[in-house]
Amino acid sequence: MKKTIDRRAALATIFGSLAAACVAGCAGTATKGEKDSAELEKPAPAAPPVPEAKVPKINPKLCKACGRCAAACTKDGSAVKCENKFKICGYCVYCYGYFKESPESNPNAIVCPTGALVRRQLEKFRFEYSINITKCIACGACVRNCVAHGNKSLRLVVKKELCLGCAECEAIKACPYSAISRQKA
Ligand code: SF4
Ligand code: SF4
Ligand code: SF4
Repeated sequence: MKKTIDRRAALATIFGSLAAACVAGCAGTATKGEKDSAELEKPAPAAPPVPEAKVPKINPKLCKACGRCAAACTKDGSAVKCENKFKICGYCVYCYGYFKESPESNPNAIVCPTGALVRRQLEKFRFEYSINITKCIACGACVRNCVAHGNKSLRLVVKKELCLGCAECEAIKACPYSAISRQKA
């Protein structure tokens, strides 16, 4: 009888140890798996900023806002975008870059084909016009109207934060007016 009890006790000890080892092993595997997937999901290190000299500049005096540079740019979605120079903008009620016709006659006829130009009322006769660069396709339509009839505050620019600083800039090559170039080093 004593011998049977001893055998049972010994078996219980062995199974207990095996179970503990299995739990520890499984837990170890899960931890490693989680670690591996955490490593896989780690975001790629941010690319260093493009040096200023590598970002082409558009000369607003030469630019005709034809949009060729925007279409040729290597960057997905283009690094060329519209910008409003707020210092010279008139904050007009009737912005020629925004409205196709006077807002009194037809407030729904707007110039921008993508809704990238956003109008916001600041005061009774003062409106801010800003660009949603995600929507802007740099077609130049608003810029051409502002240049022809307004303060020339709307213009096309190469956005520093979007430009890849390509060794061969396709946007520069595409301009028929030599309006886009890099700073001399
Ligand atoms: S450049 Fe074209 S897409 Fe961009 S804000 Fe002006 S009208 Fe809209
Ligand atoms: S350097 Fe590259 S990303 Fe920048 S404007 Fe030229 S083509 Fe576009
Ligand atoms: S920089 Fe040249 S290609 Fe680009 S919109 Fe102006 S005129 Fe056209």
